[in-house]
Amino acid sequence: MRVVLAQPRGFCAGVERAIEIVEHAIEKYGPPIYVRHEIVHNRHVVERLRAKGARFVDDLTEIPPGSVTIFSAHGVASAVESEASDRNLSVIDATCPLVSKVHSEGQRYAAQGREIVLIGHAGHPEIEGTMGRIEGKVHLISKAQEVPALMVSDPDKLAYITQTTLSVDDTRAVIEALRARFPRIVGPDTKDICYATQNRQRAARELALAVDVVLVVGAANSSNSNRLREIAAEQGVPAYLIADADALDPRWLDGAQSVGITAGASAPAELVQELIDRLRSFHTVELETLPGITENVRFRMPAELAPVR
Ligand code: SF4
Repeated sequence: MRVVLAQPRGFCAGVERAIEIVEHAIEKYGPPIYVRHEIVHNRHVVERLRAKGARFVDDLTEIPPGSVTIFSAHGVASAVESEASDRNLSVIDATCPLVSKVHSEGQRYAAQGREIVLIGHAGHPEIEGTMGRIEGKVHLISKAQEVPALMVSDPDKLAYITQTTLSVDDTRAVIEALRARFPRIVGPDTKDICYATQNRQRAARELALAVDVVLVVGAANSSNSNRLREIAAEQGVPAYLIADADALDPRWLDGAQSVGITAGASAPAELVQELIDRLRSFHTVELETLPGITENVRFRMPAELAPVR
């Protein structure tokens, strides 16, 4: 069995930073450290951090006043920040800087008196955070088909922004539909879709063209992992999103001579290794990695945890 790995795959700089923030906070302040929501969308990461002393909560009311509290990589609404301040929580913000950039962009457009069309998926924490950062009207849409029904106050005073983990191709179609209906709309094209998402999508497409079956390691609630599976399937090969090696159904590989593996931006490398080990338990594996981009992006730690010079 040829087992082909996509390059790049797995952790992005925003996820690495968020995990390091929790680890450094536990070292610096001692457990427990409270984290609002999953720090990133991955059960394995969450459990490992829980074992070190992180406590994950859905609501700030569960956190004792004065405690060290970390906001997840997906970002939070301004109201959550105010609530944390009212409860006297000592906050460390692990919001990915690329999500913060989208917040600033939306705020800048709103300050120009524009209504915002936010392209993204309802219910995703990043979308809740972004919507809750912008004062003024925000219209949330996810598909080009929703554009005709948009009711806006002034078609000449519109801007759009996007979630960071969308499919580049689908988003382009939504933007084209927006521009066709509202020729004076302004926005960042697909540049809000982060470098890690774009690189992993390109690599997943190349991978799918080179193998018989694609396995995407990632959580069911991870937006970028779901997009990777969809992009692989669009190339005409069976593609499966699996949380870990145990979730692999060997029947998916019946008749396949090659299997491609990629991983979402919140999936740790050891989950990919465990999947390869599981494949080795029932096949002789020839392992190769596709040529692809090597990422060198690193984000600075927040000031509270920056190394002292
Ligand atoms: S997927 Fe992109 S936006 Fe999200 S944490 Fe990673 S680098 Fe940041």
